Amino acid sequence: MATATAPDTIAAIATALGPAGIGVVRVSGPGALAVARRIISDGSAGGLPDRVATLVLLRDPHDGSFFDQALVTYMAAPRSYTAEDVVEISCHGGIAAVRATLAAALAAGARLAEPGEFTLRAFLNGRIDLIQAEAVADMVAAPTDLSLKAAREQLGGRLSGEVAAARAQCLKLLARLEAGIDFSEDDVPPVDRRQAAVDLSAVRSRLDHLLDQADRGRLLRTGVRLAIVGSPNVGKSSLLNALLRSDRAIVTDVPGTTRDTLEEQLDLEGIPVVVVDTAGVRGTTDAIESEGIARSRRALAEADVALLIFDAGRELNDADRAVAAMVREYGVPVLAVLNKSDLPEKTGDGDLTALGIDGPAVPTCALNDAGVAPLRTALLELIGGGDIRANELPLVTNERHQEALRAAAAHLEGSATAVADDLPADFIAIGLHGAVRVLGEVAGEDATEDLLANIFERFCIGK
Ligand code: GDP
Repeated sequence: MATATAPDTIAAIATALGPAGIGVVRVSGPGALAVARRIISDGSAGGLPDRVATLVLLRDPHDGSFFDQALVTYMAAPRSYTAEDVVEISCHGGIAAVRATLAAALAAGARLAEPGEFTLRAFLNGRIDLIQAEAVADMVAAPTDLSLKAAREQLGGRLSGEVAAARAQCLKLLARLEAGIDFSEDDVPPVDRRQAAVDLSAVRSRLDHLLDQADRGRLLRTGVRLAIVGSPNVGKSSLLNALLRSDRAIVTDVPGTTRDTLEEQLDLEGIPVVVVDTAGVRGTTDAIESEGIARSRRALAEADVALLIFDAGRELNDADRAVAAMVREYGVPVLAVLNKSDLPEKTGDGDLTALGIDGPAVPTCALNDAGVAPLRTALLELIGGGDIRANELPLVTNERHQEALRAAAAHLEGSATAVADDLPADFIAIGLHGAVRVLGEVAGEDATEDLLANIFERFCIGK
């Protein structure tokens, strides 16, 4: 990993590789302008004014041959993404075109950037803090409008501001406590315990407010994995298709995991849901039947929640009972669904009780969009997303931040107990010091090399 002390000049493709109108190669570091000059036409080599897009021809620095036309923008330090000199080259998109530009930049003296290195540099140069750096990755990965909005708020610094304010409150109280400790023999009045208790509880409520929303916030960032299980022909595929059809968002396929299950991305009121499709196995032979069961087991093992589908239009059979028993084994939260509610009812809630399913099942009809509306609502309730759109957007979405805020709250609890127990000021200070340290880690002030490596290695190259 690069350090802040001796930055070299790095380059990487900043856009996705594939057929596209344009692709961007980003160059950052003290030699960025020199690299750019070596690969652009002589005509424009002299002038790349700061923050102006200039149309140039790109040339191979080895033989001088021109290979593309591009818009080049130079952003002088510190007013750039990394706070270093940055040149962005917008060339033709497409794998070969963008690679040719990158190769030219490397031949002209840049080194290939590590994953996340541009953002790491922005962090090391103090342009953004660690919360904001992580928000960059979240923005790029955000699958829904709400995930994006939450990431944008963090990138804008709202969470950073809250964390900094909580830390400042702790430091202020610590300073008062320590003045009392250091000068206890002199004239400094002893710490006002009642005031210390009030101050501690003020920081606590700030943290608690953030923590209260954090579980919902994590839903926006990591989403949930949903398994749809049920015996053959109850309508699993039809329901999945109906859910996808009624989706307000543009549906994209999530590339399957290493497994052979299909995965679909669903936007449930802004909460990203990855549906693991266990259907798709057709036929009546034992081998295919057992493959279906194996798939269901894999899906259940990976799922956060499951939909257990029954056919309301026929009586329960052994296969239904077997699937219900299997779901119970995995202990995932389950929503029972009585599909084909348009048919005369042969199975109802009463019949499901015998399978150990309490509470009403959701009636659905997979044949039309209206028939799955109650399912969307019930599913949202089950995953704890309830009225996510109606409520304040959670500021905390990242598990690391949530854990640190919890730890800070626990440290403050220790201080509050010391106040309540009338312990000396240095006992009160212990918890506050702990809180200051973990809050500093969240924003990256006290971040260790390991923590930074852990965060940035998850970025892709070019970010
Ligand atoms: P899977 O094997 O569980 O995935 O079931 P499918 O989705 O393939 O559906 C099995 C059959 O039931 C198909 O012929 C569907 O058209 C039909 N079906 C699915 N959902 C409904 C429903 O809500 N009402 C009715 N009447 N038929 C349905």
